[in-house]
Order: sequence, then C-alpha cells, then structure tokens
Amino acid sequence: MKLIFLGPPGAGKGTLAARAVDILGIPHISTGAIFRSAIAAQSPLGLKVKAVIDAGKLVDDETTIELVKERLSRGDLPRGYILDGFPRTIAQAEALETFSAVDRVVNFDLPDSAVLERLGGRRVCRNCGINYHIVFNKPREEKICDACGGEVYARDDDREEAVAKRLEVYRSQTAPLIGFYREKGLLVDVDAQPEANTVVENFKKALGL
Ligand code: ADP
Ligand code: ADP
Ligand code: ZN
Repeated sequence: MKLIFLGPPGAGKGTLAARAVDILGIPHISTGAIFRSAIAAQSPLGLKVKAVIDAGKLVDDETTIELVKERLSRGDLPRGYILDGFPRTIAQAEALETFSAVDRVVNFDLPDSAVLERLGGRRVCRNCGINYHIVFNKPREEKICDACGGEVYARDDDREEAVAKRLEVYRSQTAPLIGFYREKGLLVDVDAQPEANTVVENFKKALGL
C-alpha cells in the first residue's frame, strides 16, 4: 500500500507512522527526518536547507521533489510506503503523480489548540529520531531516549516564532492538498485528537484494516 500522511505540523503523523510500519510492514519515509539527518551530517543538502527549516519555511519544491523521486526509485519498496510530510504543496503533489501512484491519503483531523499543545511539548531523540512529549509521552529518564539512550532535545523549528510561521505555511500551501486529493477520491479522514492508541484504532478503521 502506498500512503501519504497529510496534516499540520505536530498532528502526530510521525508517531502514528511508527506504529503503522509494524501494522502494514511498509517503510516510513519522512522528508523532515531526511532533512534533519542531512543537517546533522552537515552534508551539502543539510547546509543548504538548515536556515530555511529553522525559520519554519518550506524547502524549495525542486530540491524536495528530487529527493523523494530518488528515494522512491531505489527499488526497495515492493510493498509500498508511508510518505510523511510529502507532498506539502500542489506542485509537489503534481510531480509525485508523474513517478508514483498513491492508494490513499490519510488526512489528520484535529483542532489548532491540540496542534499547539503537541508542538510546544515535542521532544525528539537526536540519535534515532523517536518522538516524545513532555506531558503525553515522557521518556523514562528525563532527556534520555528509552530506545537508544540518545539525547532527547527540542527541535529548533519547534520554537514559538518558527511554529507560527509553519502553521501559516501549512494553511496557505499544504491545506489545499486536502481538496486536491478529496476530488480524486483518495482522501480518508482520521480523527487524530484522542490519545495515540485510539488514533491507531481510528486509522485502522478508516483504512478498513
Ligand atoms: P512537522 O511534521 O513537524 O511539520 P517535518 O519533520 O515533517 O515537521 O518537517 C520539518 C521541516 O522540514 C518543515 O517545516 C520544512 O521546513 C521541511 N520539509 C519537510 N518536508 C518538506 C516538504 N515536503 N517540502 C518542503 N519542505 C519540507
Ligand atoms: P508530526 O509528525 O505530525 O509533526 P509528531 O508525531 O512528531 O507529529 O507528534 C507531535 C508531538 O505530539 C510529539 O511530541 C508526540 O509525542 C505528540 N503526540 C503524537 N500523537 C499524540 C496523541 N495522539 N496525543 C498526544 N500527543 C501526541
Ligand atoms: Zn533514540
């Protein structure tokens, strides 16, 4: 199955994707995570995108499309994939259609208040990328990843100024994809507001699993 996870920053896409990988046996491809590892490695891609991402803006379409096209063309995704955080613009969605046909687009439905609460408390493992939350999903030991012992930190783009920018960018550039995919009959809405286990159940029901 080829899935897109579509929703505002902080909606819980990465958190659900980690669970859906086990349920469906397909890999999770997060453009944000790819960019963050490029930044950590100080690769040419990382150096190019760091300032843009920290400011809460979108990386340009050309760079992002090229990255995803390359990733999907390696031939190691025979059973499909979960694309998390791509496409984020109509131009990206149109480009994707030229190299891969998705089966379903999962739209994360939740109010802005929940988004702000989730982004404000989000923490991430610097080493393995697992998500935590200071209230809803704390690591057993403060600031230490349960899974790998890595340092758990607050992302630079989860600072208040960047969050405001990201929500504005989501509304103007990404939310139009909801209508784009609904018209194509690909959209499934998932109530993403309850606690994580319930969201997993809502997701399974929405996909008829
Ligand atoms: P979140 O899920 O919190 O929105 P992501 O980890 O998906 O964050 O993305 C982090 C940042 O990486 C985005 O704010 C943006 O700057 C960049 N990014 C990720 N995916 C894309 C994309 N498809 N197009 C442009 N920029 C992207
Ligand atoms: P996204 O990938 O959409 O940006 P994340 O999966 O990173 O979102 O989740 C954002 C924050 O909200 C993280 O701190 C995560 O632990 C927390 N979170 C995710 N799902 C839920 C949920 N259902 N209820 C409460 N907190 C959640
Ligand atoms: Zn870790």
